[in-house]
Amino acid sequence: MPWGLLKYGLASKYPARRDIPGPRELKKSYEIVIIGAGGHGLSTAYHLARYHGITDVAVLDKGYVGGGNTARNTAVIRSNYISPEAIEFYKASVEMFENLSNELGYNQMYSQRGQLTLAHSDASVRAFRLRAEINKHLGVRSEMVDRKQIREIVPCLNMDKKMRFPIQAGLWHRDGGTARHDAAAWGYAMRAAQMGVEIHQRTEVTGIHVDKGKVVAVQTARGTVRCNHAVQAVAGMSSEVARMAGIRLPIRSYPLQAMVTQPVKPFLDPLVSSAELHAYVSQTARGEVVIGGGSDPYELYSTRSTLDLKENLIAHVLEMFPFMGELKLLRQWAGITDMTPDYSPILGTSPVKNYWLDAGWGTWGFKATPISGKCMAESLANEKTARLIQPFGLERFRRFKLFNEAGATAASH
Ligand SMILES: Cc1cc2nc3c(=O)[nH]c(=O)nc-3n(C[C@H](O)[C@H](O)[C@H](O)COP(=O)(O)OP(=O)(O)OC[C@H]3O[C@@H](n4cnc5c(N)ncnc54)[C@H](O)[C@@H]3O)c2cc1C
Repeated sequence: MPWGLLKYGLASKYPARRDIPGPRELKKSYEIVIIGAGGHGLSTAYHLARYHGITDVAVLDKGYVGGGNTARNTAVIRSNYISPEAIEFYKASVEMFENLSNELGYNQMYSQRGQLTLAHSDASVRAFRLRAEINKHLGVRSEMVDRKQIREIVPCLNMDKKMRFPIQAGLWHRDGGTARHDAAAWGYAMRAAQMGVEIHQRTEVTGIHVDKGKVVAVQTARGTVRCNHAVQAVAGMSSEVARMAGIRLPIRSYPLQAMVTQPVKPFLDPLVSSAELHAYVSQTARGEVVIGGGSDPYELYSTRSTLDLKENLIAHVLEMFPFMGELKLLRQWAGITDMTPDYSPILGTSPVKNYWLDAGWGTWGFKATPISGKCMAESLANEKTARLIQPFGLERFRRFKLFNEAGATAASH
C-alpha cells in the first residue's frame, strides 16, 4: 500500500480538499434559486457568478450533485444537427467543451475523436447529404464518406454486403467526441461554490409560490425560500416541476437505457452510430464499450433497466461488430428523458414572470451543458432571453415554429 494512502487513512483530519462546502443552513431568501444540481443548473450558477457577478444564488437538489441524468448519459458531444439554429447553438457548446478543462481547472477528459453515423438506406444517404451540406455551410466539420473511407475510419466494422442492412455510406463528423460527465458537474459545482453560490443537496422542491403572475418563493422539504427569480433545470422531471408553477409543458417522459461492457484493449477510436439499427457505440479511456440506443417505447417514470431492451440493442450492435459477442456486459442503467415534439429543448422565459425554463433535454442535453448555462445566466442577468436560445422558447409551440431535429438526434444523441 502506498505510504501516502496509509497516512491518509490513519489521519484523524482528512487533508483532502472538499470540492464543495458541507451542508449548511438554507437562507430565507436568495436573488436566484436554481432547482436541480445537474450539469445545467450548475453551469448556470457558475456563469452567473463568474461572468455576471451574481452570487446570491442557491442551487437546490433533491438528491446529490450530478446524480441525475448528468451521471447517466453516454457523454456524446457533437454539433451536426440539421436546423441552422440548433447547429449554431451546439457548435458554441462544442467550442466551450474544447476549453472547459482550462476554464474550470478540472480535467474534463474531453476527447474529440470524431463521430461516424452509418446510413443503411437511400433515404438516410439523402438526409445525411443534406446535413453535411448545412453543417459545412455553418462551419461544422461534417462530410459524407463512402464504404472505402468507412473501412479506413473504423477497420473493425462489419462491411459485409450480405448483412441485413448493408452499410451504404456514412456521415463523418470530426468535431464529435466525449467528455467525463461527472467532471462537468463537479467542475461547475466547485467553481460556483468557491465564488459564493450555495449548493444544497438533499433539498427537494415540493412547490412553487406564484403571486400576481410572478414567482416569489419555492417550497422545499426544509422550508420556504423566497426568491426574485427561479430556474428549473431538472431534466427528467421537467413536467412535474413546471406543473408546481402552474405551467403545462409539451413534454412526454420516457426511460432511456444504456450499458457498458467489461474493459478491453482499445479497438474503437471514433464514436459509431447507426440510424437504421438505432444503436451507438463508443469506447472509453478505460476500455469499456459504451452501448446505447433510443428511448423505451412507453412513457414511464422509472429508472429500471430491462432485459428486452438489452437483447434488442445487443442484437443490433452485433450486426455492426459481430466479434463483440465475446464481451461481457458489466452494467446497464436508465434515466428519464423529457421528449419534446421537435426533439429540441425548451429554454428561456415561461408564462410565470421571473420563472425560467431549462427543460426538454430528452436524450441530447449533456453536450449543451456549457452553452445552456452560459445563455441561461445571460438571460437571467439581463432579464431578457439570450439571442442564441431565443428560437427554443416555449412560445414556439403556440406559433407552430418547431425545429424538427428528430432525424438528427435519434440514436446519435
Ligand atoms: C442513458 C442516457 C444516455 C444519454 N446520452 C446522452 C449523450 O450521449 N449525449 C447527450 O448530450 N445527452 C445524453 N443524454 C441526455 C443527458 O443526460 C441530459 O439531457 C442531461 O444530462 C440533462 O442535464 P440536467 O442538468 O438538465 O439534468 P440532471 O443531470 O438530471 O439534473 C437534474 C437534477 O434535478 C434534480 N431534481 C429533480 N426534481 C427535483 C426537485 N423537485 N427538487 C430538487 N431537485 C430536483 C435531480 O435530482 C437532478 O440531480 C442521455 C441521457 C440518458 C438517460
